[in-house]
Amino acid sequence: MLNLERFARALRLRWLWQEWVAPDKAWVGTETPFDNIDRLLFAACTTITLGNGSKTKFWSDGWLQGCRPKDLAPNLYKISKRKKISVQTAFTANSWIHDIPQQPGLTTTHLSELAALWIRTQNIQLQPNQQDQISWKLTTSGQYSASSTYKAQFFGCTKIKRSSYLRNSWAPPKCKFFIWRVTQNRVWTSDRLQKRGWTHSPSCPLCRFAPESALHLLAECRYTRRVWKLIAEWTAQPTMRTQEWQPSDSVAQWWQNSATTPSVPRKAMAIMTMLVSWEIWKERNRRVFRHHETSAPDLLSLIKQEALDWVVAGAKDLATLLSRE
Ligand SMILES: [Zn+2]
Repeated sequence: MLNLERFARALRLRWLWQEWVAPDKAWVGTETPFDNIDRLLFAACTTITLGNGSKTKFWSDGWLQGCRPKDLAPNLYKISKRKKISVQTAFTANSWIHDIPQQPGLTTTHLSELAALWIRTQNIQLQPNQQDQISWKLTTSGQYSASSTYKAQFFGCTKIKRSSYLRNSWAPPKCKFFIWRVTQNRVWTSDRLQKRGWTHSPSCPLCRFAPESALHLLAECRYTRRVWKLIAEWTAQPTMRTQEWQPSDSVAQWWQNSATTPSVPRKAMAIMTMLVSWEIWKERNRRVFRHHETSAPDLLSLIKQEALDWVVAGAKDLATLLSRE
């Protein structure tokens, strides 16, 4: 059966695509409303190759190793004086830095985001004689198609069985989207950056021991396992303890194993796995981009707070799990 909401979203992305490939058309830039999920999905579905940087928006396009700078440096983005500048303008005499208002408004968070973004953009070379290029990741032709965009919204149903409770369970869209990307191996962990010859950290930022991959971060890292031990204690669910886990070869398999944890309802387990994984991923990014570390017990406190927010926002299955005796 056709899901109209997702179909409508797939069609809206066509306009974002047209904005790129045919900017001269009169209808571009008119009233089509895009929400943040449209733009996130668009960034996830496309690859931008920089030429002279004139077409690419510095803050809101996913040109920096597949990331959007507004996601990497959200506080900086908020205070930047110009939010729609092109990469070309931004790099001219480092004007993106001059767009940041001077002290005393800057906090240490602003400064560390500034430093991290500055480091990541250091090796970018624009090609003055070439146009920026965009291609659609989901089609072999590299061109937008509505059907590929429609299908992409179903969180990897083809690869993960029993994903209906992922679709039907309550979680913020950004977390579902993250889990979808991670189970498709589309998250920029070091192993993927290295394959493309991009700057990467040699070892996992959480344990500083093993090479970083998505499977390691979410399932194997000893930091992650410490967090799950605390979660099992907090929720009084001994089957969640990592020594009870089945071995997994891939994130998709790990996700499926975790959803079938004995004696924990599936929807509740899916939502808890999303919540913990999301917080682990945020901790990983805090360490990489802000050089700030949270201990496993402190992360548990953050997870508890976040869990409450989710329950208040409508995560019934999570509420049931947390209130079980
Ligand atoms: Zn690790």
